[in-house]
Amino acid sequence: MKLPGPSARVSDTWAQQELEALTHAGLRRFLEPLSTPQGAEVVIRGERLVNFSANDYLGLAADPRLVQAAIDGLHRHGVGSGASRLVVGDSDAHRGLEAQLARFKRADAVLLFNSGYAANLGILSALLGPEDVVFSDALNHASIIDGCRLSRARVVVYPHADPAALDRLLSSHPGRRRLVATDAIFSMDGDRAPLDALVEVCRRHGAALLVDEAHATGVLGPRGAGLCEELGLESEVDLRMGTLSKALGCFGAFVATRGPLAELLFHRARSLVFSTSLPPAICAAASEAVRIVEEEPASRETLWRNIRYLAHGLRELGVDAQESSPIFPVVLGEAERAVEAARLLREQGLLVKPIRPPTVPAGSSRLRIALSASHTGAHLDQLLEALSGLQWDRRHVAA
Ligand code: PMP
Repeated sequence: MKLPGPSARVSDTWAQQELEALTHAGLRRFLEPLSTPQGAEVVIRGERLVNFSANDYLGLAADPRLVQAAIDGLHRHGVGSGASRLVVGDSDAHRGLEAQLARFKRADAVLLFNSGYAANLGILSALLGPEDVVFSDALNHASIIDGCRLSRARVVVYPHADPAALDRLLSSHPGRRRLVATDAIFSMDGDRAPLDALVEVCRRHGAALLVDEAHATGVLGPRGAGLCEELGLESEVDLRMGTLSKALGCFGAFVATRGPLAELLFHRARSLVFSTSLPPAICAAASEAVRIVEEEPASRETLWRNIRYLAHGLRELGVDAQESSPIFPVVLGEAERAVEAARLLREQGLLVKPIRPPTVPAGSSRLRIALSASHTGAHLDQLLEALSGLQWDRRHVAA
């Protein structure tokens, strides 16, 4: 008897149809393996490129001190954690990192998650149910959107960074529990949430506030603890989620909160309860990253010098660039335009990935420039020079 060949499989047809649709819409993506560590310069298929696409804002991802901490952690704890935290996957390294993050974030309690994605899913689905209402900024990260859906709460999307609109929506949407969720720095736009006003609106309406500090941790605040620190709102925000994967150069995430909420999450957040915990060596490396952020403000200062320099240069090119974060969007419109612009930059040795739907709304495809403290002045000048040569229609460019 002859088994059916691959062409007979119905699932291949599903995949082919959808992939063709993606190709047609200019949304087909390809993986590009690095053959070097993450850094300001990387090599892809033998080509050396200046990298403006990573979230490694402080250049810590390949820092030898983090590498050494991970090696020491590997020798001490082995590779895999072996089980979820609640079974036998807890360790001194997990506990030590949580205690250190609690001090860094000035929080009552900190609970680790396996990724930022898992944290937002776990937090939202643990705290909210069908009788509740979650208010979510229109430009929140996909992990918040998916967490809202998974919670089965009623989801009310409020206009981006608009506390007055949120105020009205809170007035007209009662519920058992109400929670507002926002990115601190919006991942594809680089702007900041109006946290002062959001805190005030939430307090007035008796709603809880979840702030995703994925891109703010290590970047903002006098000690690098984030936007809540910068605005003195650390004790005003119920849940401050942060990642270890961006400025801290590692992997994983955490929530800084109060004791009872942390304990409830520890029991109910399914992405934590039902998933193997982080490898302890990663926790050891993250501890070293937090130590560096706390003790060495110089790299944060370098990052901010780079931000100011690039923002100034972009404004000279007619881009309305802000100085709110290391993320600079250059919005070009249709996906093809962003892909073409990225290709032209690539020809000049610059890696600036185009960002397309579903990551950003249709018609707002863009180049997303992400800066690091490890970029030199020469890297920034090379980028500005290449951008000035791009034949884009400046009237449609926004940052
Ligand atoms: N929140 C925001 C705002 C993000 O940008 C990201 C990652 N891009 C995440 C959460 C998810 O974090 P992780 O990559 O650790 O899953």
